[in-house]
Amino acid sequence: RKRVVRISTGSKQFDSILGGGFQSMSISEVFGEFRCGKTQLSHTISVIAQLPVELGGANGKVAYIDTEGTFRPERIAQIAERYGVDPEATQENIAYARALNSEHQLELLNTLSREFSGGAFRLLVIDSIMNCFRVDYCGRGELADRQQKLNQFLMKLAHMAEEFNVCVLMVSIILSSFLFGMLYSYLTLLAQTNQVQSDPGASSLFAGADGRKPVGGHVLAHASTTRVLLRKGRGEERVAKIQDSPDCPEREAIYIITNGGIND
Ligand code: ATP
Ligand code: MG
Repeated sequence: RKRVVRISTGSKQFDSILGGGFQSMSISEVFGEFRCGKTQLSHTISVIAQLPVELGGANGKVAYIDTEGTFRPERIAQIAERYGVDPEATQENIAYARALNSEHQLELLNTLSREFSGGAFRLLVIDSIMNCFRVDYCGRGELADRQQKLNQFLMKLAHMAEEFNVCVLMVSIILSSFLFGMLYSYLTLLAQTNQVQSDPGASSLFAGADGRKPVGGHVLAHASTTRVLLRKGRGEERVAKIQDSPDCPEREAIYIITNGGIND
């Protein structure tokens, strides 16, 4: 029987607001401004997922889909050293793929499904989720098409998470002002469909803290079970805040980025 496992972030405080870590059989989304640690968290959790359960891991292999070209094997090695595990073996347990476009990103999921059926994988990281879709569908006329493709992608992800007892961690980027216009027309278009009416969160999309909402809007909100906002704090500090979780209160945690990855 499949049992949900929780994978540590590397920070005790961060884990505690998540109720122990990011869960398998579920999709979690982290979003936040540049340099707040999304990619560093992705690296850290890719190492920790391989550790035994007693050490916050899931004793599993990892798949890493990189759309931005920011994956660094050297960082994996450094984080492995923090946990006293073999750097090379840790790197080898990460199936890495660079996604070139949204079509390719979807194909990768099909390939990974076959790999996952072996039962050894416990974590799938996607850094970052909207990048390919944004590049491929940037015209206004293509927004509905993008919505559909993105939905397809997310449904596949949700299915994989459940079927193979995998934790899916997807990174998304904060809505910046230059994208605001684009997202607005995207939503106007969506407002003409039933999807918006069936989504109670959609009307408040622009009312969030500082207007900070992930690119991708309510489409992602549907598929995620836990979403976490990351931001810069005082000095080197970073802050994680739980948002829209079905089972965790909206608490904050402070973490830092070190040579050994995310830490307290
Ligand atoms: P983006 O939106 O640009 O992708 P991000 O949220 O993915 O940003 P990261 O790349 O995860 O951001 O984090 C960048 C931060 O991590 C920088 O502040 C950098 O100084 C810090 N960092 C990277 N490597 C190390 C390290 N070895 N030790 C300490 N801090 C580091
Ligand atoms: Mg990044």
